[in-house]
Amino acid sequence: MILLNPGPVNLSARVRNALTNPDLCHREPEFAALQENIRTRLLQVYDLAPAAWAAVLFTGSGTAAVEAMISSLVPESGRLLILENGVYGERMSTMARVHGLNHVSLQYPWQAPLDVRRIEACIETCGAKNRRITHVAVVHHETTTGRLNRLDKIGALCKARGIALLVDAVSSFGAEHLDFDAFGITACAATANKCLHGAPGASFVIVDRAALPSLTRRSLYLDLSTHCREQDAASTPFTPAIPAFYALREALAEFDEQGGWRKRHERYATLLGRVREGFMALDIESLLPQEETSIVLNAFNLPRGIDYATLHDDLKQRGFVIYAGQAALAKTLFRISAMGEVTGRDIERLLDAVKQVTATAGA
Ligand SMILES: *Cc1c(COP(=O)(O)O)cnc(C)c1O
Repeated sequence: MILLNPGPVNLSARVRNALTNPDLCHREPEFAALQENIRTRLLQVYDLAPAAWAAVLFTGSGTAAVEAMISSLVPESGRLLILENGVYGERMSTMARVHGLNHVSLQYPWQAPLDVRRIEACIETCGAKNRRITHVAVVHHETTTGRLNRLDKIGALCKARGIALLVDAVSSFGAEHLDFDAFGITACAATANKCLHGAPGASFVIVDRAALPSLTRRSLYLDLSTHCREQDAASTPFTPAIPAFYALREALAEFDEQGGWRKRHERYATLLGRVREGFMALDIESLLPQEETSIVLNAFNLPRGIDYATLHDDLKQRGFVIYAGQAALAKTLFRISAMGEVTGRDIERLLDAVKQVTATAGA
């Protein structure tokens, strides 16, 4: 089955095989070496200096890493501005509410870009009781619609005001451009099983060490500082998902051998470019203009006369899993992701399959 959903992804044979590496106790030096290898390689993805940055590993899906980042980094005296133009921005607001953070959310229509002037105005006026905005949280690639939010402009805005930028990079880390310095990123959260092609169960936060709080703790299990401190000491506070860690180490080795994020970017861009071109010939339109989307995933309007369930089920019979739109977009959209062990030949077969399905529906 070819998975065209945005994670979990099809694994390469070598990554799948790594899942059955020997049983291991997480209090043994072999585990410490495994953990350290992953932490080092994660920083190398975007050339970050280990003295200034830490990669902190979590057992859990991408949401665990995002929640660890959001709940750990905004101090009691801080105020968080959350930018929402899709499901994942909304989810960060839910986290802020659950953890009782002092926060404000700026909502945009799900198909709209984040308008920088409105963000700037909010930073000026959305303070509360003499409390200015100290942190901004944004989703880099909003997987809801395939939109790539412009971190350069938002980052510049924050940087000029000394505001910390927290990024949900779950579906962009490893394939999109992330310039931590230029964008002024303080922390970003991501996962093993999207653009890095690992297995589900491991996720991580990359954080500027200077931003790690020493005292406050809002969560026992997801506290970023606790995990970082223990991992720096070649330890871990809880039992990790060791098979997922094995797979991530192998996936990162493969990622390096294949040429890092730039090559992965090219590979996805080629695959999705072919999808867009093939769909256009079948009158299936992209939701967003190409220059506003990621190269990781694109959303398309459903072909005329076919509902999502029919398209999904017919394609699944032919060996492809596509992905539905979320919430209000569920009735009108479907999504195709280029992540994972997917080849150009798979995409040609997909286009053939969609052609057959739409021809049958039209008949
Ligand atoms: C997939 C995704 C997540 C988290 O998903 P999990 O199911 O928890 O791994 C968070 N943010 C974005 C942008 C995503 O695409």
